Amino acid sequence: MDVVTVMRHGVPREEILAYADEADVDLTRLRGLKDGAPTYRSLLGVARDDADTFFSSAPPISAMTRVDDFDHEEHMREAFELAREAVARGDNPFGSVLVRDDEVVMRESNRVVTVNDVRRHPELHLAHRACREMTSGERAETVMYTSTEPCPMCAGGMRSAGFDAVVYSVGGDEIGEFTGENSPVRAAEILGDHTDVQGPVLNDEGREIHEEFDW
Ligand SMILES: [Zn+2]
Repeated sequence: MDVVTVMRHGVPREEILAYADEADVDLTRLRGLKDGAPTYRSLLGVARDDADTFFSSAPPISAMTRVDDFDHEEHMREAFELAREAVARGDNPFGSVLVRDDEVVMRESNRVVTVNDVRRHPELHLAHRACREMTSGERAETVMYTSTEPCPMCAGGMRSAGFDAVVYSVGGDEIGEFTGENSPVRAAEILGDHTDVQGPVLNDEGREIHEEFDW
């Protein structure tokens, strides 16, 4: 069992970093890295042998809990459906799902207009719900699929939730073509080494939703 796998069991980050200290891993270099997966893969690269022993008490894990094995397109298309549901209801075109073991476990679409609540971006509301309804270990095995890259508000909430990864379709660097303003901060800058950010996935289909919307 490697350190990346152990992360998916929700072993506290502090425990891994404490282990890194103990194993004399170069933490300065690790903490300087922005992206989650490479950070822990770096740790793994340095400490692989001892990690097997140190984390041997972690429970077995199924292969399907790894984001690389998930059906990206199927889950992203469900997020698209939710974005279209939001439009039909009178809200802006955004939708997101949470996935564990390659199964959708939670869904949300934007409700800012109809509920009159700025917090009802789907990503932030999923982070809110996941923190109430799931353990930290479950959240660490959970991947979010979202029709558009999370804004800074949502990325902040997601950082607290501690998801494994987020996969987006339309990037924060291209949403401005529709809304008039790109995201001032990319999700990866906020999620740092907490949550891996992947995308764009099905970018043409994701952009189509914004092209059809009356921004
Ligand atoms: Zn947001």
